Amino acid sequence: MDIERLDQAVQALCIWYRAGHRDLPWRRMPTPYHVWVSEIMLQQTRVQTVLSYYERFMRALPTVQALAEAPEEHLMKLWEGLGYYSRARNLQKAARVICEQYSGEIPCTCEELRTLPGIGPYTAGAIASIAGGQACPAVDGNVLRVVSRLLAREWDIRSQAVKRQAERELAAVIPSDCPGDCNQALMELGAMICLPNGAPLCDSCPVKTLCLAHAAGVEQRFPVRAPKKQRPVEQRMVFLLWKDGRLALRKRPHSGLLAGLWEFPNFLKGEDPEEQLGVQLTNIRPLAHAKHVFTHLEWHMAGFCAQTGDDGLFTWVTQEQLARDIALPSAFRTYRTIALEQFDL
Ligand code: SF4
Repeated sequence: MDIERLDQAVQALCIWYRAGHRDLPWRRMPTPYHVWVSEIMLQQTRVQTVLSYYERFMRALPTVQALAEAPEEHLMKLWEGLGYYSRARNLQKAARVICEQYSGEIPCTCEELRTLPGIGPYTAGAIASIAGGQACPAVDGNVLRVVSRLLAREWDIRSQAVKRQAERELAAVIPSDCPGDCNQALMELGAMICLPNGAPLCDSCPVKTLCLAHAAGVEQRFPVRAPKKQRPVEQRMVFLLWKDGRLALRKRPHSGLLAGLWEFPNFLKGEDPEEQLGVQLTNIRPLAHAKHVFTHLEWHMAGFCAQTGDDGLFTWVTQEQLARDIALPSAFRTYRTIALEQFDL
């Protein structure tokens, strides 16, 4: 019964999608490379934000080969501000595998795509269906929300078991003649009509006559979410440390949070600054506070600027180099802006 309903819904959604949808740059020429890069950028990031990054990325690295060969600093600079930098690193790792093992041709089956770094079931499904015409589902949080409302399922959409079940059910109904349209229609409905926050726009929904949650007037009861665990909070001190008109930067460790990325020196509040920084400080002044939310952690930061005459273990850069060459994680956005505006140190 649910399968029949889902089958009718995906047929109706394909017709609706073909009649008109958002004109997004990666949809204009949906090559495997375009779909792949856009889907990776869209993870955890809004479409409006991705648009300019995507265009710039494609101008700079228009092919898998160019991505595979890009210097790391260049790649990080292109990604600067998008966050979750491991996405960019995995893109490049996968591009290198594609060049070495697939002669530079992105494989277009779900099975092969899933063996590549950074490509999970959703991204593999999106590339294989949109660019490869393979009838496989692409299930993310948006799609789970739509399906759970359509079928009035009390699904906890954070559960991996639920995701697998949705994949199985959609795999049974996805049309083999237009799998890409079907997956994009589900994504489009989730983004434009069956909204995550607030009331969905059911009056404009092409599947409202099939939707069980709508029939019962309980759209917003779905999806069910298990309560979130509270994120731990770290109180940190961040230093804009100046020496002869240059700023101190350092690279983070090669594993863990923001692995291998540049940062302003920072450490847990309560530690001794001179001990932590390994230099003598003068002219210490407080700066703004800032907060950054990672997936599993929050940083609450107190900023300071100071001067030193010691080199310490830092890389010293000018403001021009900071603006032009250095990709700083968005966690430091507030302090980067301040650093670029300070002239008197
Ligand atoms: S009718 Fe409303 S709740 Fe149901 S799928 Fe459409 S937008 Fe979502």
